[in-house]
Amino acid sequence: MSELRKGEEVSVEEILESFEVFRIESYGYDETPKTIAPKPSDFLVVKPKNAEEISKLLKIANEKGIAIFTRGGGTGLSAGAIPTKKGILISTERLKGIEIDVKNKVAICEAGVTLGELSKMAERHGLSFPPRPGDENATIGGMIATNAGGVRAMKYGVMRNYVLGLEAVLPDGRKIKLGGKTLKNSSGYSLLHLLVGSEGTLAIITKAVIRLMPPMKEMSMLAIPFRTIDDALDYVIDTTQIMIPMAMEFMEKRAVEIGEKVSGKRWVSREGNAHILAIFERRDEAEESAELAFANNAIDVFVASPKEQRDLLELRGKIYLGVKDKAIEILDACVPIASIAEFLKRSEEVSKRYGIDVISYGHAGDGNIHQHPLIFDGWQKVYWKFREEILRIAVEMDGAISGEHGIGEIKKEELRRFYPEIFELMKELKRLFDPKGILNPGKVVE
Ligand SMILES: Cc1cc2nc3c(=O)[nH]c(=O)nc-3n(C[C@H](O)[C@H](O)[C@H](O)COP(=O)(O)OP(=O)(O)OC[C@H]3O[C@@H](n4cnc5c(N)ncnc54)[C@H](O)[C@@H]3O)c2cc1C
Repeated sequence: MSELRKGEEVSVEEILESFEVFRIESYGYDETPKTIAPKPSDFLVVKPKNAEEISKLLKIANEKGIAIFTRGGGTGLSAGAIPTKKGILISTERLKGIEIDVKNKVAICEAGVTLGELSKMAERHGLSFPPRPGDENATIGGMIATNAGGVRAMKYGVMRNYVLGLEAVLPDGRKIKLGGKTLKNSSGYSLLHLLVGSEGTLAIITKAVIRLMPPMKEMSMLAIPFRTIDDALDYVIDTTQIMIPMAMEFMEKRAVEIGEKVSGKRWVSREGNAHILAIFERRDEAEESAELAFANNAIDVFVASPKEQRDLLELRGKIYLGVKDKAIEILDACVPIASIAEFLKRSEEVSKRYGIDVISYGHAGDGNIHQHPLIFDGWQKVYWKFREEILRIAVEMDGAISGEHGIGEIKKEELRRFYPEIFELMKELKRLFDPKGILNPGKVVE
């Protein structure tokens, strides 16, 4: 505590009186690769039990001008939850209340409920929660704050499509309730949707009403090696002209090899440079899609048994783990699906020009490609120019600089550069919500 007080006009005694305060060094990091993550500042951790405590804490922090950072599961990839200014980090780990309203097909979740917990609870009530960002420890608050996506987004949408209601605390401590349990709401400006994707900069989400779906159907899975990226992505486009599969994941050859190594599972073929893992809810869809794969020169089409399905999902799910320590970062530009092949080609030209090796895989069904530029000696000298060029290509293609990971600390410069007018508007909104700039200072629009 003394460090926080030292040299500061503010006193945090009031906070100390009412809250248990922790020092947890690991909360200074999230899953952003260390190469690019900012160094955490000096911070204290508070673990409020409910929205009232958060409200009380924010009221004091706002009066005293103390920086507040919010941390959910800490699985973020844009350094959004890293405390970058001396202050207090609010962990939502004690906000665990969850209740299922079966007839209305909604879950009322406190912010710290994890993806894994919500999915299990929904299944126990004969329902499902379709979004599947890749880490089950992500929290509802964090997923809403980043508008998380995942492999099933092409069919089932992203977090935004599941948030019907929100309870949040504004920087001055006011509690607000937005939306509710209805599927429709045209009652004025949708502040609810403004908070979705706001990355802890406008308000702290304490509770959400989450839309649930009927149970998932049985899965059919195809694993398909192609010789070229063009063939693989033409197959994706052809399939989505006649049906929307649950997921269509693209992996370049080296990504498959990394997934094999980390998971200990084997991919279906040693041949091919571009691989697609396609998931369907109906067998006849898988069969129809398999024909399209052959029509686009697939080397072969493998139908996975239930055990193989689990293995292949594990292989795909573990690629990030295998590449994380070798990569400078994980880029997640998103382009229209008909432009993915062109995006990858243009990216390769840029990579060659800079001499940067990039491993790519991602959600081919929605255009969100994860590119991992690999670390090399002296990367710091050229990397930022390279990255700007890659993201500029996505913007030129009517794409986005982030499809699902958010801006956080690490993409704010590109947000400002590529969308200057919007950036100014976002800053004005930030000022309106948080005139003293206490919430997640330095992130997204600063
Ligand atoms: C292996 C792996 C795979 C992944 N796969 C995917 C994927 O497929 N799709 C995808 O979208 N993401 C993916 N992610 C990224 C990550 O899981 C998501 O960004 C997730 O939404 C972050 O949730 P969290 O609870 O961990 O948030 P944190 O990392 O704790 O925080 C993220 C941001 O949200 C803010 N925040 C957290 N809680 C709140 C709250 N209650 N109120 C206001 N702001 C809050 C934080 O301040 C921060 O800005 C993956 C990450 C890993 C490690």
